[in-house]
Amino acid sequence: GTVYLNGDFVDADQARISPMDRGFLLGDGVYEVIPVFNGVPFRLDEHLQRLARSLREVRLNDPHDGAGWRRLCQELVARNGGGHLSLYLQITRGVGATRDHGFPEPPVAPTVFMTTSPLPVPVPAADQPARTAGVAAITLDDIRWGRCDIKSVSLLANLLLRQQALDAGAAEAILIRQGQVTEGAASNVFLVRDGAIHTPPLSHHLLGGITRDLVIELCQEHGLPVRERPLQAAELADADEIWLSSSTRDVLPVTRLDGQPVGDGSPGDTWKTLANHYIGFKRHLCGL
Ligand code: PLP
Repeated sequence: GTVYLNGDFVDADQARISPMDRGFLLGDGVYEVIPVFNGVPFRLDEHLQRLARSLREVRLNDPHDGAGWRRLCQELVARNGGGHLSLYLQITRGVGATRDHGFPEPPVAPTVFMTTSPLPVPVPAADQPARTAGVAAITLDDIRWGRCDIKSVSLLANLLLRQQALDAGAAEAILIRQGQVTEGAASNVFLVRDGAIHTPPLSHHLLGGITRDLVIELCQEHGLPVRERPLQAAELADADEIWLSSSTRDVLPVTRLDGQPVGDGSPGDTWKTLANHYIGFKRHLCGL
């Protein structure tokens, strides 16, 4: 496929970056992942706003304005045939003369890389709620840093946590920091108790998920009671339902936690209701 690298659209095989790139040496960069349906980037403005925020928080100059990013995204999607894709954007602090923790002085141009891949999950089908079995998750101590609100490419802790979950036969790790639920290794967490939906409030300890925001919006629009509040880890054990949300996995019911069934061990009614609204919204927006 075609990728974008520092101003050029090139074949993926032809793209080259320096081993002195600070993304490679130091994990000094930020990224975004944007799902594309029918050639339409989903919630593009929201993703680009989060990217601009990540760049600001790590003191990287934004190489493009919103219109510039939108043009690049649309052109890359078009050059890859449109359809259903996962669109990946990464910006690093560029290529320094030496490997140094301090920022290059004078500053160098950031490295901008964009690529597409097939969407890892199928486009949500109208009968998704009927077909979804749910996934297993395990709880793990949140060993990450204090700025998980930044979408940083330094993901080593997230990778170790996700792999620990996979090794345990689970799809995701639900992370606990000082007795409170933060999020998944690559997803946000929701809990349902007595018909009410709860998710941890935004803080430096979790990423403000674009899907999280959409779930909250859809709940509000359709009269499902939803609250952002601190969740104690112990509440997971008596939850009726637990959900994970992310751009690449939609809203997924967790039906086993730490080897025990969640609720009755099958996807819950509140999830089915929300999933129907979610699918309807996507279909409406992307002409699916
Ligand atoms: N939290 C983390 C740590 C993530 O990596 C992700 C994305 O994969 C999310 C939450 C969900 O964010 P979004 O809904 O924007 O994909």
